[in-house]
Amino acid sequence: MLLKGYKFTVGMCLADTDDIGDVLPYLNATFRGCMYNHNEQVLTLKKDGRQITFRPKEIAITKLENENKAREILDWLKNLINKTYDNHKNIKPKLDSWLILTPLSLSGSLPGEKCKDCSGKDCYGFAQKLIVGEVNIVQCKPLFTSEFREKRKKVLGLLEQAGYNVPGESF
Ligand code: SF4
Repeated sequence: MLLKGYKFTVGMCLADTDDIGDVLPYLNATFRGCMYNHNEQVLTLKKDGRQITFRPKEIAITKLENENKAREILDWLKNLINKTYDNHKNIKPKLDSWLILTPLSLSGSLPGEKCKDCSGKDCYGFAQKLIVGEVNIVQCKPLFTSEFREKRKKVLGLLEQAGYNVPGESF
């Protein structure tokens, strides 16, 4: 067990921990969308509207309502850190940040057909839903036609860099 316990103060919760620096690249590999600075050993992820920042001997959590919530999240993190550490030999460490997608950056690479058959009002609406996982890229039918081969390559590449599952070569 890497992390045995923590001490904390609520407000923006700041917890003192054992040294968890070694596990940060493995946590980064496990959580899509993390910001990670390997040299500085700072990992930040967003969960349920909160920002959680890990440093080797500190975890900071924003937007905590009370002490019970702080304990609940810290216990979950403790479990996550220890499980990741125990399993780290099976995880390829990730030493850089994930690409952060925005609807604007993604929609510019979609076909722009305004076909409305993808559960979005348009490509921008589809990109919004895609980022939060409400739709799948394969629902954009035009993207998977030969006409949009180059755009498809670009969009799938962006999604992959951001940690999303993308369809294989059969597409
Ligand atoms: S199906 Fe694709 S091209 Fe058509 S509106 Fe939706 S995202 Fe845009």
